[in-house]
Order: sequence, then structure tokens, then C-alpha cells
Amino acid sequence: MAQHFDYICLGAGSGGIASGNRAAMRGAKVLVIEAKHVGGTCVNVGCVPKKVMWYGAHVAEAMHLFAKDYGFDVTVNNFNWNTLVDNREAYISRIHDAYGRGFASNNVTLLNGYGKFVNSNTIEVDGEHYTADHILIATGGAPTIPNIPGAEYGIDSDGFFALREQPKRVAVVGAGYIAVELAGVLHALGSETHLLVRKHAPLRNFDPILTDTLVEAMEINGPTLHTHSIPKAVVKNADDSLTLELENGESLTVDTLIWAIGRSPSTGNIGLENTDVKLNAKGYVVTDEQQNTTAKGIYCVGDIMEGGVELTPVAVKAGRLLSERLFGNMPNAKMDYSVIPTVVFSHPPIGTMGLTEPEAAEQFGEDNIKVYTSGFTSMYTAITAHREACKMKLICAGEDEVVVGIHGIGFGMDEILQGFGVAMKMGATKADFDAVVAIHPTGAEEFVTMR
Ligand code: NDP
Repeated sequence: MAQHFDYICLGAGSGGIASGNRAAMRGAKVLVIEAKHVGGTCVNVGCVPKKVMWYGAHVAEAMHLFAKDYGFDVTVNNFNWNTLVDNREAYISRIHDAYGRGFASNNVTLLNGYGKFVNSNTIEVDGEHYTADHILIATGGAPTIPNIPGAEYGIDSDGFFALREQPKRVAVVGAGYIAVELAGVLHALGSETHLLVRKHAPLRNFDPILTDTLVEAMEINGPTLHTHSIPKAVVKNADDSLTLELENGESLTVDTLIWAIGRSPSTGNIGLENTDVKLNAKGYVVTDEQQNTTAKGIYCVGDIMEGGVELTPVAVKAGRLLSERLFGNMPNAKMDYSVIPTVVFSHPPIGTMGLTEPEAAEQFGEDNIKVYTSGFTSMYTAITAHREACKMKLICAGEDEVVVGIHGIGFGMDEILQGFGVAMKMGATKADFDAVVAIHPTGAEEFVTMR
């Protein structure tokens, strides 16, 4: 006999948890099914452990690059990778506990096991059947590994977070958020780090001011950037080191190789063939603007959604809005996928929102946009031998100079962007920005004083 619920969330990642809790708060009887740890990619092998490692890198940089010029006589005798990893994992375990308390207080049932669709309103876990009027697919994604000989000798971002020993020499292959962030962390923590990108730069689709400044920072401070480097094969050597052979004839020998070439949706093994849910050629779920899939009563949020944005807060917001629509008497609720702020925890960090300059020029015409830029040495590094650049850009469109793009790279940019995001979402113009009194001395003030 199947147990019946109002709402089943398949996957307890950012999207499933947020949607399940919100539905329960609106009175629904909710089941959340998770095969691994609660929290999904973000909490267990993504945003959260990454940010802890990034803070670790921040501490290392403060000691190695800046402490001396601030007058501190610091001698670092040892860095214990495992202390950092243990403290990180203990923090994650506290987050798991907090999720458990949240589910309990909302009366959400959590089931640990691998769920598969048997039909459009039934999920099977370990031979038991669970039915619901509404089912959310929120199974997230997994790292992609290239199809080249020896690729299996490399690890992915999940493997990075499982590392119990700091790699001495490491190659990170990829050009997106994950490659840049992991390479930056490993480099700052003292690994000899190589970042290999197959084109001319990492983050090449970001605004050029960000890409160029990041590349300059890497040239000055590392990690070692290898451009136009396409992996051909990986060979495991007798001493367990790995030699990465490239299509350009070069090769690189390291102890650890990390693939960070993108992620794929985890939709292949959840029984979707037993439903009318349509997948695109790459396995992403086809949805409409209210998260409906092509099967009645089945919805989708997060990294598996066709045309979505692979960011935790996007899945969270979409999941909550869906529950408001289904159970909260908000029939028109839907996620706005336009103009989403995002941060890359690079060294220095990047904050970006809206159109890049090339995109704005194409959309509005070059004569109809006005671009303001600012470049300076971050004050944190103004008195130190090691200087760090801060570069910022505002892109404005039309006679009113509506801000359509805001981009920055430099100290503190990770925390600067959110508030400006509110302004941009409200349709702020350059004049609105200028009307705000600057907070001095900060990096953020540049965004309201640009000429
Ligand atoms: P991305 O898809 O962002 O980037 C991967 C990049 O690797 C591609 O864009 C491509 O860049 C390059 N690449 C693809 N295939 C190959 C290949 N075969 N060999 C070499 N390089 C290749 O993936 P990520 O894994 O970095 O991140 C996934 C998503 O997770 C991101 O889109 C982001 O939304 C999210 N994320 C967000 C974070 C944050 O908010 N701070 C942190 C981490 C992830 P090119 O074409 O230039 O070669």
C-alpha cells in the first residue's frame, strides 16, 4: 500500500529543501527523498565547503602577502590541511542538523534512499511506493569528466572536497567558476597550481574588464595559467604522479588532476521514462515559466532545468515560488530568471550582474550605451608590497542611463554586489546611483562616484 503525500520533492538539495519546507508551511503534507546527504551539492560539495576553503586561502594570503607590511612578524611553521577539512566538515554536519530541525518543525518527512518514478504520481524507494498529487524533480547535477584516455585518473570537484592530503602539484582543467575558484584556493594554500583552459582565458564570457583583470592577477601572483591547452590523454606514472598530455604537444606532470569542465544534470536514472517528462538532448528537463514539466503534476527546479541558471539561490527562490503557487494561493507566482547577481570567489573576487559590455552594445547599439569604469589599488593592499587591483564597470543604456550591467573585481566585491543588485533590479539609473552619498573609504563607493 503506497503512502500518499500532497507533495514529494525528489532531491534534498537547495531547491528541494526550500520548496518542501515552504509547501509544508502552507499546510501541505510533504515528503522529501534524498539518496545522499541533505543539502545536496551546495552544502556538501559546493558553495559551502568551497567558501570555507576560500576563507582559508584568505587567511593564508593575509599571513604570506600582507601581514609583514602591516607590521606583524609572522612565521608560519605549518599548515595542516586536515585541520581545515575537519573543521569544515564539522560545520557541514551542523548544517545537516539544522536542516533536520527545520524539517521537524515544519512536519516534513525526510526519507533517505534513492527514488525513481514508477509512474507520473508514484516514486519508488527501496521497493516501497510513495504517491503524491504534486512531485518536484530537484535532483541537481554532477561533474562532467572528459572522454579521453586516462581521464579516470583525475578527480572532480567532489573528489577535491574528499582530499585528505594537500596536493603538492595540481592541475585544474576548466574555465568556469569551479576551475577558477579551486585553482585559486589551492594556489593560495601553497600547492603548485596550474590552471589549464582550452581557449584564451578563463571566464571568457564574463565582461572583459573581469576576465582581463583576473588574468593579470594570475600572471602576477599565480596560479600558473596555461591557455589554449586542450587535454588529449592522462598517463599514470610509476610514482603515481599523472602526466597530462595536451593536444598542442605539451605535457604537464602533477600529483593531482582536477576536472572542472562543467556539470551534467542527474536525470538519467530516476525513471523519467515512466512519465511524460520531456528531456532535451543533453538531459535537462524541459519546463515552462512556472516550473511545470511536460507531465501534469510534475515540476522541476535547479541545475537540471533547461535554460536555468545553475546557482543555489536561483533553485531556492524557484522552489519557494513554486510552493507558493501550488499551496500558498499565489497562482501567478513564478521565478524571474533575468538579471541575476553572481559572485566568483576568485582571487580577487568577482561580482557581476546584468549585461556585459559586448552584450549591451549588441542589444542597445554601441551609440546607445555609456560605460563608466574605475580602476585603483584596493586600499587593503595600498600599504603593502603586494598590490591588488580593483576594477569596476557600470554599463548604462538609453538617454536615462538605466544601469544594465554592473561588474567588479577586487577586494570585497563578493559582499559589495548584493545591495547594488537591489538597485539594478528596481531599474536604477546612473543618476540614482549618483544621488547616493558615498561611504568612505570603501571600494563600493566607486559605483556611486563614477565620472
Ligand atoms: P561551467 O559550465 O561554468 O564552466 C566550465 C567551462 O570549462 C566551460 O565553460 C568551458 O569553458 C570549459 N570546458 C568545457 N569543456 C571542456 C573540456 N572538454 N576541456 C577543457 N575545458 C572545457 O562549469 P563549472 O563546472 O565551473 O560550474 C558549473 C556551474 O556551477 C556554473 O555555471 C555556476 O553557475 C555554478 N557555480 C557557481 C559558483 C558561485 O556562484 N560562486 C561556484 C561554482 C559553481 P571554455 O569554453 O571557455 O573552454
